[in-house]
Amino acid sequence: MLMTEPYRKIPITQLSRAELEAVLVEWGERPFRVKQILKWVYEKRIESFEEMTDLDPSLREALAANYSLGEMELVRRQGSEDTTQKLLFRLSDKRLIECVLIPASIAFDGERSDRQTLCVSSQVGCAYDCKFCASGLAGFTRNLTSSEIVEQVMQTEALSGKRVNNLVFMGMGEPLANLTNLLRATEIINEPWGIGIGARHLTVSTSGLAPQIMKLADQPLQLRLAVSLHGATDEVRDRIMPVNRKYPLERLFEALRYYREKKKQRITFEYILIEDVNDALEQARVLAERAKLVNAKVNLIPYNTVDGLPWKRPSEAHQDAFLAVLKKAGCVATLRREKGHDIEAACGQLRLREEAKLTDPSPQSS
Ligand code: SAH
Repeated sequence: MLMTEPYRKIPITQLSRAELEAVLVEWGERPFRVKQILKWVYEKRIESFEEMTDLDPSLREALAANYSLGEMELVRRQGSEDTTQKLLFRLSDKRLIECVLIPASIAFDGERSDRQTLCVSSQVGCAYDCKFCASGLAGFTRNLTSSEIVEQVMQTEALSGKRVNNLVFMGMGEPLANLTNLLRATEIINEPWGIGIGARHLTVSTSGLAPQIMKLADQPLQLRLAVSLHGATDEVRDRIMPVNRKYPLERLFEALRYYREKKKQRITFEYILIEDVNDALEQARVLAERAKLVNAKVNLIPYNTVDGLPWKRPSEAHQDAFLAVLKKAGCVATLRREKGHDIEAACGQLRLREEAKLTDPSPQSS
């Protein structure tokens, strides 16, 4: 089957610095050329190898024959310059992924209001089947390659004309289920020779894959960790997040304690408030205790309705009451309510609609 597929060049953003250097050495080039090439790719953001004017034409040709400078295509852009924008990209195999860009003028959360935030996807679809989430509705297709992750940032920067300086892996997919490519991508995103976003401004969000959290803790990079908790007891979490049956809270918290010990860094708990599902005030009391166990901060997010799913957000008064219980128990907590803050919910929905249109030529027939 591979034989019949057209030959595909490897995106150059797939290579680490060391790998690129090894290629150059193999081609009989001097290793310092790597610096020049990285500068063209990540600093100057050239669109063709021809533009690498300080390289010999023969090297430019060799690069062009073997590598590409990106292969994702923008399909749709929703929203305007000063609002949250959704960007839908088509990958080389025609699959669709999306990113959400939140400009600096809209605070993503209190701490980072001066930052332009990008929410990226880590997989096409998702296998974890959280009952409230749009991303899982279509099931899991595949992991993104590291260059597809890196390219989301580079393309968004090119389209918006601004630098992304806060990156959250809260788009489609479970980033820790794609750990190898995630780490490959974050190296390039973080390194000064690459995109150069500080590790403190890179947040990985997970549904709670305990073993992978421990692996992440063993990595040198100081990424921030957000855990989609959404339930303070196994009983509630089991009902809405099947992953909890595999890694129940006790196991998850073991991993979180390990992460804290290794990283000495505050973990965030994401907690979407869903009416009559996880918003009982008793949950808030247990949540506060749990958060204090690992010194985590809690981000409450009112649930965003998803077409085809029955869940609703509680009233603002009830959201406030839930927050008050957390605070009274001495827990650091915020409620993300302003417009534009609830971007996570938007992730997945744009793609679903678009995919239906693109793949089903006769939607009326069903
Ligand atoms: N799989 C990872 C990252 C993707 S989801 C994770 O679970 O963390 C990013 C965040 O959006 C998660 O906290 C997820 O639970 C939340 N989310 C999903 N659907 C939502 C919705 N309809 N409203 C609000 N938040 C939602």
